[in-house]
Amino acid sequence: MKDSNNTIFKKMAVLNQAILDSMLGEGNVSIIKNFTEAGIEILEADFGFASWKYPDSNTYKIIYKSTGSPSNLTPAEKGRLVILVHYGEHTYGNIILGYKHKHKPTKQEILFCKLLGNTAAQAITIPWLLENEERALSLAEKQKEIEVLLYQEKLKTEFIANTTHEFRTPLAIMRGHVDLALRRGRNELKETRKALRVVNTEIIHLAEMISDLVLIISGRNINNTKHFNLIDITNLLQDTVDRLRNLAKENNISIAIKSGAKNISVMGDKKHLERLFLNLIKNAITYGKSKINIEISKSKGKVVVKIKDNGIGIAKEDLPNIFERFYRADKSHSSYGKHSGLGLAIVKWITEIHKGKIEVESTRGKGSTFTVTLPEKNSMPN
Ligand code: ADP
Repeated sequence: MKDSNNTIFKKMAVLNQAILDSMLGEGNVSIIKNFTEAGIEILEADFGFASWKYPDSNTYKIIYKSTGSPSNLTPAEKGRLVILVHYGEHTYGNIILGYKHKHKPTKQEILFCKLLGNTAAQAITIPWLLENEERALSLAEKQKEIEVLLYQEKLKTEFIANTTHEFRTPLAIMRGHVDLALRRGRNELKETRKALRVVNTEIIHLAEMISDLVLIISGRNINNTKHFNLIDITNLLQDTVDRLRNLAKENNISIAIKSGAKNISVMGDKKHLERLFLNLIKNAITYGKSKINIEISKSKGKVVVKIKDNGIGIAKEDLPNIFERFYRADKSHSSYGKHSGLGLAIVKWITEIHKGKIEVESTRGKGSTFTVTLPEKNSMPN
């Protein structure tokens, strides 16, 4: 077979394509077919596809392999071309191409073969490098996941430790009042009733703390959204407001809900979301003055809920801390027993579970607006 430069280039182009195909996962069949079609005869016995161990890995891959080490084969021999499969510092072996007839390869052919060998080596090296990179990436991801889990665990432990400590105060208050009531004479009904009222308040407070604790302890993995359901946010807020109507009435506060659209839904945990809005609206009642406006809207795949009050507001220096556990802005404005400083920490925690965010704008003496942003049902990240 007489090979003009053109023909050998054509063959090499086919071979080059075959190698690229193998990179793209077309498989050995297409490579053998392309070789045959190009009229390239295989001289060395084990030229073809064989297992090869990568220098620093235990995985075996199909690559091109020939007998003999690269060093004892000359780049060009009469009647055959030896292509060094080499890329950067990686040398994998040789591809040996034979001609049907004696032929002395030209300079151009040799140059082309060098390029070809380089392509083949790239075909081998690049997936290997990518594989290594992927392995490193997935290791880094796992490491990150573990760190997040450990961090969440640490937060939980701290939270439980702090809350358990907080249990002691209402218990001590109750014990003191019960003690006093027991020591008083039988006829001092008025005093006893007073003590019982205090005990009752503390029991309510304790019960609230326990339900918060249960929420946190049962708090499913932050990244696990499998148990989430479709929740109509307007209905949920309406129900929450209904639960708080009496409390609002006692405080002479009116609550209005305005929804910008129908069917505004999020994917979420109903119990947690109820708790989130209950805490915010309860705060708006506690620290509010006369009216609360709740606005529900959606924009760009987000559901936005604004809870506005016209109450005492929050001082600028307190704003960065109010979402911290047990933080209470103005220690003088409410007596211990009703407020634990846990409400907003729980709000923040629940918002984060739902991949949302919570923001606050407030002016001392004028009121506060808490804005909760949650991903709309279809745009919930995994
Ligand atoms: P607390 O049980 O004390 O209400 P929170 O975590 O719910 O705990 O709130 C933390 C602090 O943030 C409160 O003590 C209060 O000072 C301030 N705060 C929360 N909501 C409001 C609001 N709507 N208006 C004014 N201050 C608020």
